[in-house]
Formats: sequence, structure tokens, C-alpha cells
Amino acid sequence: MKTKYKTSLKDLNSFGVECFSSNFNIINNEKEIIDFIASNNDPESIILGGGSNILFKNDIDKPILKIEIKGIEIINETAERVLISVGAGEVWDDLVNWSLSNNYGGLENLSLIPGNVGSAPIQNIGAYGVELKDVFESCRAISIETGLLRIFNTNECNFSYRSSVFKEGFKNKYIITNVVFRLSKLNHLINYSYEPLKFDLKKNNILSPTINDISKSVIKIRSSKLPDPKEIGNCGSFFKNPIINDLNFKKLLKKDKDMPFFKVSKNKNKIPAAWLIQQCGFKGLKEGNTGTHDKHALIIINHGNASGVEIFNFSQKIKNKVLKIFNILLEEEVNIIDN
Ligand SMILES: Cc1cc2nc3c(=O)[nH]c(=O)nc-3n(C[C@H](O)[C@H](O)[C@H](O)COP(=O)(O)OP(=O)(O)OC[C@H]3O[C@@H](n4cnc5c(N)ncnc54)[C@H](O)[C@@H]3O)c2cc1C
Repeated sequence: MKTKYKTSLKDLNSFGVECFSSNFNIINNEKEIIDFIASNNDPESIILGGGSNILFKNDIDKPILKIEIKGIEIINETAERVLISVGAGEVWDDLVNWSLSNNYGGLENLSLIPGNVGSAPIQNIGAYGVELKDVFESCRAISIETGLLRIFNTNECNFSYRSSVFKEGFKNKYIITNVVFRLSKLNHLINYSYEPLKFDLKKNNILSPTINDISKSVIKIRSSKLPDPKEIGNCGSFFKNPIINDLNFKKLLKKDKDMPFFKVSKNKNKIPAAWLIQQCGFKGLKEGNTGTHDKHALIIINHGNASGVEIFNFSQKIKNKVLKIFNILLEEEVNIIDN
């Protein structure tokens, strides 16, 4: 383990917010975590992956553990499927590319999502009709309080839309060190149910897409509408899409019959947060060093020198306005870190 006592976090968070850590620790294996917990025993340590879903409001005095555990290993395979065990510090998109180069199916719709493998279960990453839970087998995690190792299977992770047990009951309680995925080797389950994906494949006359076709199409669509954090600081969607009950939904639809929605169950509908924010006049709005992206109202951006507090305050302004106009309380998808 390597410890540094004054480290800039500017290049370690995709918002590109300048702030400093006074206790920054790079973790390369499970033993280093166990030793760290035994000697420090600070249950408030902050776990950092690729920094693409985290907003640092201030300088950080609590210990930061930057997880860099590497390795991709096949642990079991049959003619039809393969189980692969992946270190938490592997870059997510490198894993997707590795799976495609081996013709293993399951991760193609999740191409180009920033971040690391160990963070993927935290919010059950999802895109283009697929979620992490669809390919997840288990993960290894170490309790920050006790240093004890535990294996979580799918049921124990309690995955839901952009959430899991690691974002709810066990928030900041476990450090994920390794994730096992179940991928297909034959008869890949090709999923292009998501409209923009279906549209792009059809436009290019791809009638029986392969997993590589899906990945290429996803990359093309994502690159055309999402800002690259290397060019404009951002964390992707700042808020989750709210899921509302039938009563509130009907009231809102009565006011605006063009309101977009997706039915998630008999009595529940998901409303795109981007639409709500846009209706409140925030799309493309610039305020000081921050604002929302002109192509996507749900993406809060750093125009260059925004501080974490500035971005946070702007996000709360959006939240309050949406609450006032629609009576819907948006929930942050991004993890806000105080100090
Ligand atoms: C341009 C852009 C597009 C995006 N698109 C999508 C998308 O389509 N779908 C989607 O789901 N997300 C998307 N995201 C969000 C982000 O990529 C994911 O949430 C990703 O999983 C975050 O990974 P990370 O390693 O960067 O996590 P970090 O930002 O480093 O951490 C996120 C949270 O996980 C915790 N954490 C990190 N590593 C561990 C670990 N090993 N053990 C325990 N806790 C840990 C952190 O403490 C923090 O609370 C996007 C982000 C950007 C910038």
C-alpha cells in the first residue's frame, strides 16, 4: 500500500473538481485493506474507484482508499457460459472490450460506461436495456468496520434501478475487492429493445446484430450525446429518473399530456428526470462555473473552475425547482462526499 499525505483529487474525479486529500492510500490487494483496517480502524474511510460518480464538496481529511486491485481470470466454464473473476480496480470498459475480444456475451450494452469494476455493483450500472445484475454472479467485499471478508450473491445484493444493498443498508460499509460475472459463450442474448439502439441498427441495415454490432452502436449513440469527462467535467446523470405512483402520475399527465414516461409496474411509472429539469428551464443553462449540458439537462457540468460546493448548490437549485413545479423530489445518483 502506498500512502500520500497531500494529494490533488482533480484528475481522480470526472467532475474535475480541485480538492485535496490529506490521507490518500492506494490499495493493490485484499491484504492491504485488512492491514489498513487493523491499523487505522476509521469506519468513515472513503472508497474511490474511477471517480466518475462522486462529487467532492471540500478537501477530504478522512482516509481515502483508492482501489487498484487488478486481474481478470476465468474461474469456471462450460460449452455455453463462462464465469470470470475480475479485480475491483480494473477499468470497466477495458473489461467490456476484453469480453468482446473473446466473444463472451453480456456486457456489450454496457460499453463505454466510465469507472471501475468494483463500483459497478454499487449502483447496479445500467444502460441500453441491460443492468449489471443481468450478468452478476457474486462479489467479494471486506467490512470496513471489522475487516472480515464476505461473499455476496445476487439476492444478497438486492439490486434495483441504480441501487443495491451497497447504496442502501450497507452504504459505505463494505469495500468490494472482486466481482464474478456470468457471460455467454454461445447463443448470446442480443438485447436491442431500447429504441435508439433499435433505430441505429435498422438505419445501418443490421438485421441480426452480433455482440460487437451492439457495442459499436452503443458507443456511437453514447458519444453523440454524452459529454466526454476528459473535455467537460461531469458525472453523467446527476439524478435518478423518479419512479412515481399512479395517483401522482395521473395528476401530472392531466397537466401535460405530452409528458414522457415508462411503465415500470402496474402502479408505477418512471419519468425522465431530464424532461422535468428541462421543463424547469435548466437545459443548457450556465451559472457561474457550472450549468447543465446543452444536449442533456440531466448532466451537470463543470465549465472549468467550479468548486464542489458550487456544483452541489446548483444541483440543489434544480432539485428545489423540480419539487416546487412538479412536487417530485429528485434523488441524487451521484455520491456526494462532504469531507
Ligand atoms: C459521461 C458519463 C456517463 C455515465 N453513464 C452511465 C450509465 O450509462 N449508466 C450508469 O449506471 N452509470 C453511468 N455513469 C456513472 C458512473 O460511470 C458509474 O456509476 C460507475 O460505476 C462509477 O464507477 P467509478 O469507479 O468511477 O466509481 P466512483 O465514482 O469512484 O465511486 C462511486 C461510488 O462507489 C463507491 N465505490 C467505488 N469503488 C468501490 C469499491 N471497490 N467498493 C465499495 N464502494 C466503492 C464510492 O465510494 C462511491 O460512493 C456515467 C458517468 C459519466 C461521467
